[in-house]
Amino acid sequence: MGRHADGLFSALMGPRRRGACARTGKAGSDTARRVEAHLFDAHVFACAIAVSAEDALHENLALGPCLGLDAEALETIIGRYFTPRALACLGVPVGHAPKDEEGAILHDFLHAQARPGDEAARWLAAIIACRALRPNHLWQDLGLRDRGELNRLLATHFPALAAGNTTNMKWKKYFYRRLCEQEGFVLCTAPSCAACDDFDYCFGEETGESRLARTRRSVAHAVA
Ligand code: SF4
Repeated sequence: MGRHADGLFSALMGPRRRGACARTGKAGSDTARRVEAHLFDAHVFACAIAVSAEDALHENLALGPCLGLDAEALETIIGRYFTPRALACLGVPVGHAPKDEEGAILHDFLHAQARPGDEAARWLAAIIACRALRPNHLWQDLGLRDRGELNRLLATHFPALAAGNTTNMKWKKYFYRRLCEQEGFVLCTAPSCAACDDFDYCFGEETGESRLARTRRSVAHAVA
């Protein structure tokens, strides 16, 4: 099972990453920054697709309900960031994006916070809204290496939203708190965060092992 996520991530990122890195070294600084930003987005999409495909395989679902995207969006992403052959490596049918109400509310909220004109942000809003329903830290269920990568993703594609998290709240908590404020709800029972028994629940550390690192470790252990 883990072998599938790791293999899919490598199939998506391998050749494109090496080629792009080689070009970066010779390029001017503006071009180098654009290539680096493109590579980072490719890394983010590859991580999310890999762990979502693994969940889909494990839960006997199609990829769409686990990733938050339909086939058209996925094909566009693969065409832009990866080799078209990567579609054959998914190992699961693509299917349709999920239609649950909770995911749709968060999707609409994130979509409205996307950087104007940023197409990648529209796809990421759908992916984040879907993966935020999973039980682990958001960065883990997006397949990222650590919370720092999620910080970078949000600062790049949702800059105003990210800048508003001045107290370094856990990202899922922060999204839902902002959503409640927007709708005029108050879920917090304490007068302030400092006086609240749930402080650690909202602000505790978001550390742990990444899903792809865990996958590689279990694959290495299996072949040892
Ligand atoms: S720590 Fe308490 S008061 Fe602060 S956001 Fe969390 S639940 Fe609300």
